[in-house]
Amino acid sequence: MRYAIAIVKEPPEPPTHLPRTGLCVKLNPLERGILKILVSNDDGIYARGMWLLAERLKQGAEVVVVAPDREQSGAGTAVSLHHPLRLHRMRPLVAGIETYSVEGTPSDSIILALGTVLKDGVDLVICGINEGANLGNDVLISGTVGAALQGFFHGIPSIALSVAAIKEARFEAAAELGVLLAHQVAEEAIPRDILLNVNLPNLPAQEIQGIELTRLAQRSYADVVREGHDGKRKYYWIVRGEPQWNIDAGTDIWAVTHGRISIAPLGSNLTQVAIPPHFGELLPRLWQELRRLGSQAPGKVDDAEGL
Ligand code: MN
Repeated sequence: MRYAIAIVKEPPEPPTHLPRTGLCVKLNPLERGILKILVSNDDGIYARGMWLLAERLKQGAEVVVVAPDREQSGAGTAVSLHHPLRLHRMRPLVAGIETYSVEGTPSDSIILALGTVLKDGVDLVICGINEGANLGNDVLISGTVGAALQGFFHGIPSIALSVAAIKEARFEAAAELGVLLAHQVAEEAIPRDILLNVNLPNLPAQEIQGIELTRLAQRSYADVVREGHDGKRKYYWIVRGEPQWNIDAGTDIWAVTHGRISIAPLGSNLTQVAIPPHFGELLPRLWQELRRLGSQAPGKVDDAEGL
């Protein structure tokens, strides 16, 4: 190991609200003999980061790769419901790894994998290693996190693993960390019903400053539209605007911009916990206004008491 690991805070209590789906039939690798890991991504089936991770994981686990047939970065949690999906068994880039490409989104890949080739369940889902950060509000459009979320929905320990690289990502430390986290899952040191969003700075392993348990930063983009003309018709291109972010200590962006690894445990509950002040006073006004509109409409809305 070439980099120091010091978890600076206690891990949170495992969430208990998730119903088990029965898909992960038996997760104890000690009983099953070997850890079974589903590896996927949103960068496409040929992505270098995913194959480095798969190769490392294979040294101590059974690895199955199921990933989109092309890059799908930014696909978020999209699931294909309106057309049939196809799964292609293909020759792996690393010998001995059962590999499938999916004509679909990253989330489709996980759902298909768990519903077909991995019906007996898996012990861990890892999505990555993504080339590019998935930090702050961006987790909501990240195909890497979106795919890992599907594992989480099935009650399987799930990890999204990314390197904060613009180009020429250094995947080494991320691959090592992926293996270490898989070991932690094998030893049941990580709660089962958990989704970890892991981001590494794009640094050589020996230059990484540490590892932090973090919360998501409030990073917001105003995506902007650029117009062009292809000679026949106008086209539009959505491009990222200048990010606005806070980099408070304890956030994922703070960690990565300070040369540290960020591990942010995520849940699926997006409800804002702190209700804005005076919000409660708004509700009676809204209700009054709705009633007024309803009384003007031709078919009057039923005045339900107590709503
Ligand atoms: Mn990506």
